Amino acid sequence: MRYLKNVKVLVLLCTFILLLAGCANSGDTNKAKDNGNKKMKVVTTFYPMYEFTKKVAGDKADVQLLIPANVEPHDWEPTPKDVANIQNAKLLVYNSDSLETWVPNIKNSLGNNGPTFVAASNGISLMKGVGDEESKGGSQMDPHVWLSPALAGQEVKTITQALVKADPKNQSYYEKNSNEYLNKLNKLDNKFRTELKDVKRNEIITQHAAFGYLAKEYHLKQVPIAGLSPDQEPSPAKLAELKKFAKKHDLKVIYYEELTSPKVAETLAKEIGAKTEVLNTLEGLSKEDQKKGMDYISVMEENLKSLKQTLNE
Ligand SMILES: [Zn+2]
Repeated sequence: MRYLKNVKVLVLLCTFILLLAGCANSGDTNKAKDNGNKKMKVVTTFYPMYEFTKKVAGDKADVQLLIPANVEPHDWEPTPKDVANIQNAKLLVYNSDSLETWVPNIKNSLGNNGPTFVAASNGISLMKGVGDEESKGGSQMDPHVWLSPALAGQEVKTITQALVKADPKNQSYYEKNSNEYLNKLNKLDNKFRTELKDVKRNEIITQHAAFGYLAKEYHLKQVPIAGLSPDQEPSPAKLAELKKFAKKHDLKVIYYEELTSPKVAETLAKEIGAKTEVLNTLEGLSKEDQKKGMDYISVMEENLKSLKQTLNE
């Protein structure tokens, strides 16, 4: 009995101390989040950010995907509910201010009450976009770094550092996962390098300017129908120019994407007697596709297969 009573007192005391700690913390707002058994919550914006984070975090963090898989991240804006969800995360992992253009505003408005914002592209020098001359009055920076496996690796490293900093007790776990995944990305990069080395031609026409970094890395020339965002309709002059380019280089394939209408690509292909094929930007990957076992690596391998064939035709 006496023992039980002591336990009771102890429990009460603990509760009291926890309450005190809770009060002290609520002023500090941010981090009553990862105390003890609760997993650190990490919100990620679109699919590759989700996969890169999840591969490193494993089961040590609650990794969530913010933007629905069937929505173009270029067009997406957060609702108040999304903002609330972001607010109570420990980290928000996103690609860059030039893709998730809503981030700077939210970062400002949440201030110290928000999560740590992790731009995975940090440290990578972004290049200016191509094919954007007709829109938005001037050039923007190209955010599509994840489509180069080498740069994807850099994003994974940045994400790893952020996870370790936010949750240092799992450092070795995160670093082990990170190295394993980086090995896979490295192999993928080598495969692209080897298989695209001696192709017959270098030119590809894509639906929007998503493959600039990939093209640069493996010495291809990308000519996009739309600019950095897929929703831009090309002018008749631009279409005429594309037609001329495709004929000159005898292109047999016009690439389109899964998340946007293939109408323009189809029209163009028809006019020059080419066919259309998918080149996946990974700006979304549906749950069904994920269940089939598709992921960043397998989709990029499909992209490589298609590129290799197209460039040798
Ligand atoms: Zn894009």
